[in-house]
Amino acid sequence: MSTDRIIIHIDMNSFFASVEQQANPFLRGKPIAITGKDQKRSVVTTASIEAKRLGVKTAMSTWEAKHICPSLILYPGDPHKYASVMERFNAIYQDFTSRVEIFSVDESFLDVTEEAGDYFGATFIAQTIRERLREELGEHITASMGIAPNKLMAKLAGESVKPNGLTIARPQDVIALLDRSELQDLCGIGPRIYQRLSNLGIETFKQLREFPLEGLQAEFKSYGVWLHAAAHGHDSSYIISPTKKGVRGVSEEEPKSYGHSYTLPHDTHDTLAIKRYLLGLADKVAWRMRRDDYSAKRITTHIRFGDFTSVTEQRTLNEPTADGLTLFQIAWSMVNHLMPTSRSNDQPVRLVGLSASQLTHDRQQQPLFKKEQKVHSVLPALDALQHRYGSGIWTRASLAKTHFKKRSGACPTTPHDADCQHSRAKRR
Ligand SMILES: [Mg+2]
Repeated sequence: MSTDRIIIHIDMNSFFASVEQQANPFLRGKPIAITGKDQKRSVVTTASIEAKRLGVKTAMSTWEAKHICPSLILYPGDPHKYASVMERFNAIYQDFTSRVEIFSVDESFLDVTEEAGDYFGATFIAQTIRERLREELGEHITASMGIAPNKLMAKLAGESVKPNGLTIARPQDVIALLDRSELQDLCGIGPRIYQRLSNLGIETFKQLREFPLEGLQAEFKSYGVWLHAAAHGHDSSYIISPTKKGVRGVSEEEPKSYGHSYTLPHDTHDTLAIKRYLLGLADKVAWRMRRDDYSAKRITTHIRFGDFTSVTEQRTLNEPTADGLTLFQIAWSMVNHLMPTSRSNDQPVRLVGLSASQLTHDRQQQPLFKKEQKVHSVLPALDALQHRYGSGIWTRASLAKTHFKKRSGACPTTPHDADCQHSRAKRR
């Protein structure tokens, strides 16, 4: 299975209730239930950890909850307070990666593939986030976290230990995670799907994995394909940023720039290799812009040398662009004179970086030349492929031999990881 991403799922435990317990010491350690304004006719929106232990569940009527747990304290919810806490923890996540998806009011996905490098790095990030949550929100607001190669498995991992858990499911652990989970634990298998699976004699993930794909398709149509992939621990869905999703209660800030940098496997004097890495970065930046419907008017390149000196150059364009090849050509025209062979200080290159800013939603004009028009016309199809299967599904022929590997043993951080693309393309 390809190990293309590292995702952290963070779910606040008994969120509304813990916010109230943090704010009011009198409520701490007690069974409380957050309700609507009219408490008599309302349902339980959130039960505190103490109330859950006594059998109180979300969506239970307040009458029933009080009947089960007479000492239960009913407390009217304050949506403004929760929205403000929600903004604060999502802002903390943003300090660790720009790829944060607000999945619900108390759940977020973080793509830390590049920032973490490997699962050790991701665990460190998760623990640091936990520290920050404690320091900045208070010790009574806790979270469960899961780390896995995709969103679906990260959520399943995170939910396997509550409250305050941290569960790591590396690619090689994913099947074991599934096999110790119930079918209904998976986000996407609700009571009705569960019943239909049960009618087919499928009660476990092992049975789901072994069930013929054709049979699942006959019963569930395209959802059968999803179920089959999920049972194998696969999920190619994206991190959807708040700007695209438009989550209520979160300010919809526009991105300021898109950028990537890459530390080469070895410091190098090889101009052709550096050129290839830069093209890979340009394609990645361009694809993210197109995905979010942006073009950029300013390109910034960054080169770091073996002695850790670095140079940054910027250029403002006449026409905004979101085309990888154009980005690359501009970036290369800025940096080629900085290459080791053309410098008096003959330091090898250690890192290349490229970012695109001054973003606009203006569409790029159609290219004037026939050859460019041809390339331009296939971009939407390639983008659709990437959208479905994740970045790295295609690569330029000129990059096919460029392996983006990280230094010494860590997982690759990949502008276009040839191995990864290959395994993805094969998997489907
Ligand atoms: Mg929660």
